[in-house]
Parts: sequence; structure tokens; C-alpha cells
Amino acid sequence: MKEVWVLSVRTSLPEICYNAEDLKTSFEVFTSFETAKEALRKKLREYAFAESPMFDGKGNLANLADDLAFEPSDEDGGDEGDCIELTPDRLQAIKNALKTAFSGNDTDIGLKNARYWGNLIEIEISDGAIRFCGDGDGPLNGCDPVLTTNIFNMREEKDYYLYISDLFGQGDTSELYIDLKKTALNRAETWEEIEERAKRTKCTRCGRQFDFFDAQEAYGFDYYIGYGSAHDGSHVKADLCCDCFDELLDSLIKESKTTPVLYEPIC
Ligand SMILES: [Zn+2]
Repeated sequence: MKEVWVLSVRTSLPEICYNAEDLKTSFEVFTSFETAKEALRKKLREYAFAESPMFDGKGNLANLADDLAFEPSDEDGGDEGDCIELTPDRLQAIKNALKTAFSGNDTDIGLKNARYWGNLIEIEISDGAIRFCGDGDGPLNGCDPVLTTNIFNMREEKDYYLYISDLFGQGDTSELYIDLKKTALNRAETWEEIEERAKRTKCTRCGRQFDFFDAQEAYGFDYYIGYGSAHDGSHVKADLCCDCFDELLDSLIKESKTTPVLYEPIC
């Protein structure tokens, strides 16, 4: 079994993303973590240091406005337990860390592991990863994560990701989903063949173009239906992307009298 590092990028950048059809997927395969990491950093620099609907061309997210944080309160009342007030200084520290990471350098987020609550956003910091959500009551489209990443410090050989969705709904912007994943090639195909198959395949359920991981896992079914089914005589075939496979499996688990999950790893 051969292991490779796959860098997958899904984005409409440098164009605005109006709907999912605008997102294009590309992927590159590397045999070493070091070369894969350099390729990821090159991508980050290319995106963050070019003017676009998402970045200001200087390594900053265009829509991550300062007024998303609180002005410091007199008695520092927000700092209780693991929920900490997101002051402009703390937001700036996060922005600086993001810019350093986008520049291609290892850094630390500079704030302790906790949940931070700002004017309109919540930020969760945990073990070198960060997750921004819109505040549920605010105008920022509820709680969906709008920025999730662990690219701050890439010294360790492990999977890295950067997901930026329609950032806080402020004006026209793009979406950017980058994954660097260690992947075992356990089929009798080369990665070039898997890549070719991905280009030729769309998810039957959601219509999305397959990426490398979808093609490698190749979830779905291909049956010539026989007696006992209302579809007797038909040939049915479905190619499922990993997200649709998860959703279908989740609903099957919910509807089933016995569980289809025979083994589950303990994380
Ligand atoms: Zn799908």
C-alpha cells in the first residue's frame, strides 16, 4: 500500500462565488510531506497576497472587520471560565497569526485554548486550530463555521486544512476549501488514474465534481437488479461523494432496526 499526500483546493477565487457551481476543484499529489507542505504554503501565499473578493492583497481577510470584536469592558467582565471576551487586541492577535501563516511561516495563535465571544462572532481556539462562527442571534448567518483552520504551525507531519466560507456575509466574496491529507492508495490504480476518474465523475446525489478523495474512496453502488425488487431488470448505478455517503449512512442508521455500523474506531 502506497501512501501519498494529496493537496486539494476547491474555490472560485479569484472570482466571486455566487453558487456552488462556481467552485472548481483541483488537486496535486506528493510523495513527501515536506514537498506537499511547501505546495500548500505556495497556494496560501498566492491567494492571500493577491487582491480578490476574499483577500485584501496584503495577507488579510477583507471581510474580517475590527468592529466584530468588543471594545474592552471596564471590569473585564467577559473573561469567565472558558468563555473569554473577544477584544479588538485579541482579534488583532488572531489576524496577525493568520497573516503569518498565510505568508508561509510557522506561528502560534498567541491566545490560550478557549471560546472567545465577540460582538457578532464566536471563536473557538483548541490545540493550534481555530474555528470562527457567526453569532446565532446576529446578522451573520447563524452558527455555521465561516473560518476553520489548523495551518498556524505545520511542523508536525499530519493533515492540515483551511476552510473559509462566505465570510460573515459581508458583500460579495468567495469560498476557499483547502485540504492536505495523507492518503493510502489501496487500489490497483495509480494516483494519476484516480485523478482522471475524479475528473470524469460527478456525485449522483448532489452533482458535485468528484475530488481526489471522493474518487479514491469510490462510494456508491452498481447493480443489475433482479427478482424481488420493484426495479427488476434495471441497471442502477450511483456515484456518491464522501459528504453524500455520510449523509445517506446517517439517515440509514437513524431508520434502521439494527445498526449497519459493525465497527467504529475509538477516537
Ligand atoms: Zn454528493
